[in-house]
Amino acid sequence: MPQRIVIVGGGIGGLETALSLKNLLPSSANITLVDRAEYHSFIPSIHNVVSGDIRARDIQIPLALVLGLRGIEFVHDEVMSADVAGKNVILPARVLDYDYLVLSSGAENNFFGVQEAETFSHRFRSPEDAERIHADLCALVDERSRKCSVIIAGGGPEGVEVAGELLDMIRKRGYGHDLREGRISLQLIHSQDNILPGFPARAQNFAREYLLQKGVTIVTGHRIVEVRQDAVMLDSGVTYDASMLIWTGGIQPNRLIRELPLAKDPDGWLKVTDRLHSPDNKSVYGVGDIVSIYMDDRPLALTRLAYHALDQALIAAMNINSHLRGRRDVGYAPKDRPQLVSLGKEMGICSRKDIVLTGQWVVLLKKIVQARYLMTYLSKPALSALASSIPAGGFRQILRMFSPL
Ligand SMILES: Cc1cc2nc3c(=O)[nH]c(=O)nc-3n(C[C@H](O)[C@H](O)[C@H](O)COP(=O)(O)OP(=O)(O)OC[C@H]3O[C@@H](n4cnc5c(N)ncnc54)[C@H](O)[C@@H]3O)c2cc1C
Repeated sequence: MPQRIVIVGGGIGGLETALSLKNLLPSSANITLVDRAEYHSFIPSIHNVVSGDIRARDIQIPLALVLGLRGIEFVHDEVMSADVAGKNVILPARVLDYDYLVLSSGAENNFFGVQEAETFSHRFRSPEDAERIHADLCALVDERSRKCSVIIAGGGPEGVEVAGELLDMIRKRGYGHDLREGRISLQLIHSQDNILPGFPARAQNFAREYLLQKGVTIVTGHRIVEVRQDAVMLDSGVTYDASMLIWTGGIQPNRLIRELPLAKDPDGWLKVTDRLHSPDNKSVYGVGDIVSIYMDDRPLALTRLAYHALDQALIAAMNINSHLRGRRDVGYAPKDRPQLVSLGKEMGICSRKDIVLTGQWVVLLKKIVQARYLMTYLSKPALSALASSIPAGGFRQILRMFSPL
């Protein structure tokens, strides 16, 4: 009987899992990917959508196309829950049976129970969120008779990148003077003592100095405890006006993961072994932001990043293949790679362990990473679909047709 593999989520981890499984498994295996979104998005570039530099569609690939070309079924729907004992996932109008389930449904904003934060914040987790921020901010700053105060909640890489893009956008629209004179203000509020937590001190200080000098106000060591339609209040009691609040501070697993009857870590992330399956159930794998990987009963300290999701996808696919074929599985060991953070179009930080480099080249490098990523996902399936549709011996004839006379 052909094996059925269902993947929940066609983001960075889910798409890579699907394509890797297609390469590894026998052609009789049925691979189905379910995503509530029609498009796969390259999330690490959404800050560029905020400034209007690019549009959402520039960093999105239609999942039906990229999967269809490889003979992987795409179901455009929301997974409501999963019955891990009965081995099926439940969609609003149907049920999908599986032999192996890969969960890769990503993270969502965590508002830490702050009153009204969910109602009045702009989220910053998808290209569509970034487009809304762009449109609303354009409308706000263009109203020249009104003051415009933008609050960014969270000073991690997302908050810092969004601050850099907003600075660019304000300048590009000709409002640099209004930022200097105070009609427009940008404030970054971060609960810890230093922005870019987890980065070397030199990167933290560089980002802080750069943004301060460009006109961003940075408030550290204080949490937002209350949000109103037009203001935020900090735990210090200080209140700031907020024409717009952009929430980048913190993530949590989404409802699907929270409600699954599988082992979780204390924060609700899906617990998996270093083989990337649930310790409770060897038919359920997890990759990407949703997982908390345990080695010898201790969780790995791992930042939730795209390149970890990609590496985990490959290991999960290899282990499903090994399990099916009765071979030994392999353990996941995180690799350390440089992290790139942009501070607008003119400056960026490249950091790995204690090495910190800065310059505009980082921004260009980020763009190359993005282009390479999108091209890989468009060209890999197209090339392999082309290759499998050419009959044996046909390659030579085709090459001869295209070779110079
Ligand atoms: C603003 C921002 C900037 C970032 N910058 C970087 C960076 O520079 N470098 C880096 O390495 N990482 C970066 N990251 C982190 C990186 O984007 C994530 O680590 C990565 O996207 C995780 O991949 P994933 O597959 O786990 O989840 P995602 O890519 O989030 O994909 C999850 C998918 O699941 C789908 N889904 C969710 N629930 C359901 C459901 N119930 N039913 C059906 N479908 C569902 C969603 O539609 C989505 O397509 C950034 C993240 C953000 C938010």
